[in-house]
Amino acid sequence: YPFGSKLLILSTLSSGGLVAYSESQSELGTPSGNVNEIEPRKKRVVVLGTGWAGTSFLKDLDASLYEVQVVSPRNYFAFTPLLPSVTCGTVEARSIVEPVRNIIKKRKGEIKFFEAECVKIDASNKKVTCRSNFDSNSLGNEEFSLEYDYLVIALGAQVNTFNTPGVKENCHFLKEVEDALKIRRSVIDCFEKAALPGLTEEERRANLHFVIVGGGPTGVEFAAELHDFVEEDIVKLYPGVKDLLKITVIQSGDHILNMFDERISTFAEQKFTRDGIDVQTGLRVTSVSEKDITMKAKSNGQVHTIPHGLVVWSTGVGTRPVVRDFMEQIGQADRRILATDEWLRVKGYENVYAIGDCATIYQRKIREDISAIFEAADKDKSGFLTVAEFQDVIDDIIIRYPQVEHYLKSKHLADVTDLLKDPEGNERKEVDIEGFKLALSQVDSQRKSLPATAQVAAQQGSYLSRCFNRREHCEENPEGPRRFRGSGRHQFRPFQYKHFGQFAPLGGEQAAAELPGDWVSMGHSTQWLWYSVYASKQVSWRTRVLVVSDWTRRFIFGRDSSRI
Ligand code: FAD
Repeated sequence: YPFGSKLLILSTLSSGGLVAYSESQSELGTPSGNVNEIEPRKKRVVVLGTGWAGTSFLKDLDASLYEVQVVSPRNYFAFTPLLPSVTCGTVEARSIVEPVRNIIKKRKGEIKFFEAECVKIDASNKKVTCRSNFDSNSLGNEEFSLEYDYLVIALGAQVNTFNTPGVKENCHFLKEVEDALKIRRSVIDCFEKAALPGLTEEERRANLHFVIVGGGPTGVEFAAELHDFVEEDIVKLYPGVKDLLKITVIQSGDHILNMFDERISTFAEQKFTRDGIDVQTGLRVTSVSEKDITMKAKSNGQVHTIPHGLVVWSTGVGTRPVVRDFMEQIGQADRRILATDEWLRVKGYENVYAIGDCATIYQRKIREDISAIFEAADKDKSGFLTVAEFQDVIDDIIIRYPQVEHYLKSKHLADVTDLLKDPEGNERKEVDIEGFKLALSQVDSQRKSLPATAQVAAQQGSYLSRCFNRREHCEENPEGPRRFRGSGRHQFRPFQYKHFGQFAPLGGEQAAAELPGDWVSMGHSTQWLWYSVYASKQVSWRTRVLVVSDWTRRFIFGRDSSRI
């Protein structure tokens, strides 16, 4: 065979005794090798989900190394941080989505995509069962199974109603593109209904009462978007609406945006008060009907019922049924969220990874592992180590768990160094292991679990793809995937999250941002920073151009209030 030609190489499946064919393209000028040589079958990777985590995994994966199959009920990636802007037409839905097939066609190697929903993960038989999206009369409705060698679960999360009566039936959610489009239509409906003849003023007011349950970033951003829409566009089209309209944000905690720095919460609350957005804190919604919303004050148990025209429920996320079912299978039924280790492997399943909102890194693993390292170092089982042995153990821990380095070297150094000295301040010859473990247990109690954000999901996806790209090297190490370091040396490295800050757009061309290093920025200039960061973070040039042109269109012509 001439060099550079397409070779059809017979390859055998390592398991099951089946025979498969794989095509390989040898590079021009590179000897293609012995054609009679049997090429091992590529390992099969199945990826569930095409959100932030799944897409960032696929974007960075060297797909020529694996046989990759992707399953998701949506054949696109959605840039969720701009969903609130879709609710009022500041940007169009199609501007924030990128077809998955556009993303995967740019990868080296072939990636297969199936528009279907995974309904069952069977980790013991290494297969997933999927059901296509299409209605029962069309072809392709049958269930199908995919076998895998490695499974990447990136299924995200679903809205959490906390089983509050009437929420599913009477509230809008803001999780998917369809949700944002539904809200957009319903908002316009409320204004059109209120403009109809024959309504009492009370009915008009009720129709124009927009309630947002949840004072987190999504709820706050939607309230701000809606306020801007009314101020900048609606008042010109629906005379008299301004006096009847009310926007209420209901928050169960004491402040909105309470996951942000206190200065940002205060700034947001003051801005909303100036804008006439009613922020009600310390209230828990107990039920929602078609016309009313009932809530209970946390302080005195008093119950209030208020009429509404539209309710947006934005109170956090819960586990998807397919993930919950998987958790029950693998003995994690008592957990709220699927647990992984620091290498993002599902606990107890070496070949199943879970990334993004559907999983959390199980923190106690660190403490357990550290105890094991100490016990291994304490060869004579005396419960004590010499100072030199102790230092070695600390170095080992830092290599394996870089995230505890900060704890060991700075903030809580005193706790650790105290153990090296006796009460008189003299250097000890031996260190009490139990005392050290006790000091170190603070690491777990003080660290918060990672937030369910796009930032975490994207970083986990690209970390995992780097591990997969270097799996050959990693497989030699039974402890888990390694990361290739600049020095050229392979080093055992778990996933480490880098926080680059977070934004909260507050409307009126103002935003707040919490940046790394305890920096807080608020106001108009921060909004411009928001525009530039969100434009730069788009997954493709196509969506970048579309989003920027939508912003420009809105500046020039305002938002489109047609109900399509
Ligand atoms: P998702 O992005 O939700 O992806 C899950 C994927 O799984 C989807 O493709 C879905 O179709 C697919 N899927 C679902 N069920 C199945 C099934 N049964 N079988 C196969 N596939 C399935 N984060 C930030 O960092 N900054 C922000 O500004 C920000 N703003 C946000 C605004 C809104 C309105 C929302 C809703 C979220 C926002 N987030 C933000 C959070 C961020 O979107 C999530 O943390 C992120 O999407 C999590 O990524 P993921 O891949 O885990 O899940």
